[in-house]
Amino acid sequence: MLSVAVPAALAAVPGKALPRWERGMLDIHHINTGTGNSAFFVLPDGTTLLLDAGAGYREEKVKSRYDAPPRPDATLRPGQWIARYVQRMHPMGAAGELDYVVLTHFHGDHIGGLEPASPRAPAGTYRLTGITDVAEGVRLHTLLDRGWPKYDYPAPSGGALMLNYRAFLKWQVEHRGLRVETFAPGRSDQLVLRGGPRDFPTFEIRNLAANGRVWTGSGTATRSRFPEGAVPSENNCSTALRLSYGAFSYFSGGDMSGVPSTTRGAWDEMESAVAWVCGPVDVALLNHHASPGDVANDFFLSVLQPRIHVVSVYAASQPGPDVLRRLLSERTYPGPRDIFTTNWQWPGRRDHMVKLFGESDTAWLFDRISQIASNQGHVVVRVDPGGAHYRVIVIDDQRAEGVVLSVHGPFAARSVQAP
Ligand SMILES: [Zn+2]
Repeated sequence: MLSVAVPAALAAVPGKALPRWERGMLDIHHINTGTGNSAFFVLPDGTTLLLDAGAGYREEKVKSRYDAPPRPDATLRPGQWIARYVQRMHPMGAAGELDYVVLTHFHGDHIGGLEPASPRAPAGTYRLTGITDVAEGVRLHTLLDRGWPKYDYPAPSGGALMLNYRAFLKWQVEHRGLRVETFAPGRSDQLVLRGGPRDFPTFEIRNLAANGRVWTGSGTATRSRFPEGAVPSENNCSTALRLSYGAFSYFSGGDMSGVPSTTRGAWDEMESAVAWVCGPVDVALLNHHASPGDVANDFFLSVLQPRIHVVSVYAASQPGPDVLRRLLSERTYPGPRDIFTTNWQWPGRRDHMVKLFGESDTAWLFDRISQIASNQGHVVVRVDPGGAHYRVIVIDDQRAEGVVLSVHGPFAARSVQAP
């Protein structure tokens, strides 16, 4: 197999800083702040994308040790830590901008939740949390979400969190020239290399789903998974995307469910419909924090067959024992797979797990630590120029200038494109 060698000077080494991104590489940084989701992408031509900017922790949940502690610490809010991380890893340095922000859905652990202590922005029209905190440190060029401009699906949104978010958008559009677009399922021309596709013709980000509408695999056509009149959950309205670069592919589906609630129909889960059109991938960001009884159904896993699972874990309930059993089982799909979680152990967590899952499942979960490739830190997927190989690099989340903890791979990308 022809492969593009990474120069020795660029190899990641434990104990050292992550070597800088170079043109042609694809970096996906799953940033751990101890709460929610946020992933920073540096695309092969240097275009940048932030997928979610969660700040979901609630003070009492951290105090009771149900939620993971803040990382690196509580001196800054999660959105401020995300901004610092982006400034540190941005190809243009601290002055770099975010070309794209994509928000999967409107929950605090993905866009930033409001706390009594959330301060007002200097501009005064909204409060700072999650994505609004990020924008204080990094200029945003284009933002895509599932609701713009009306925010009325599946119902008009009038909650404090959405009012704050919309005030933020209005201010950014008027004063900072922010562009906002509706994330349109089926399209592959919304998230593009801003330097032009010429140098990297195999790169694509395909919008797979949003608001229950799923790409059919033909042109940009979509069909709705939800029957007329259904009122879906916010989680199932999540945006989903598939990124491809040469033989490499990556999936993200926000907090979509894979198990319908017993009182609703089959439409109350999105994983199966999205799996049909996504096909196999190398790396998947697991849906909904691996919540028990809710995600990673057998069909979804048997179709995507991820070599690498990245799991955003921040609460005692994550991952659910049933989910972890399916992830580890070769009954769901054959071959090796590695699991990377952003958090796993913190003081007091075990007591909550015993209450949730009982003593034996809790013991089983803790025994699985030896089967987890990494259970603490930022999880960086670094793809070689051209996309034939990639590595997974874990970075220390205890310090702002975290060093490399471990390097996994190289893995050969599998070149399976669907449909
Ligand atoms: Zn979430």
